[in-house]
Amino acid sequence: MWWKVEGAPAGLDRHIGSAVGVLPGGVEATGQFPVAGVVAVRARCNCGWRAVVDCPALPDGQVRAEEIWRTDHMLPLCALGEEPASERIGRELLGQFGDFLHNLPFAEVTPLEGLRAAARVSQVAGQAIHELLAVALRQGLPLQQVADALGIDPEVVHESTGYPRHHEQG
Ligand SMILES: [Zn+2]
Repeated sequence: MWWKVEGAPAGLDRHIGSAVGVLPGGVEATGQFPVAGVVAVRARCNCGWRAVVDCPALPDGQVRAEEIWRTDHMLPLCALGEEPASERIGRELLGQFGDFLHNLPFAEVTPLEGLRAAARVSQVAGQAIHELLAVALRQGLPLQQVADALGIDPEVVHESTGYPRHHEQG
């Protein structure tokens, strides 16, 4: 089952929500809910957004997940009136990556070929992060904001990329 916001502002009508089953340990099950063995239901969006809190895998779990998608994700976005450029770019990149994964002929390739393909995608993503960190540094963005954008602990960002904890004044 897919969720959409009818009459959403331009771009935001491209966000498609759905429920994904959560396996023990918090790992997302592949395929659409319901899947055997799941312990919870998680709301997700095709833009990459995930609900922070999972719903119990009860009969109304999907209904509650849809409510969370609408209130926590789509309502704040729609309140802006139009889709922010950052959301659009992220959504389009994820869509292309999803197509890439979807079109990999997994049945016909060995795991090694698939791993090589995934490694190339990872390299490109790593290069993009490297270049964007340089831009962020030139603009003097604080480490905390950069870490929030990456979804990584600031100290880990500093340790792994050398991004400064504090900017030189003047
Ligand atoms: Zn979304």
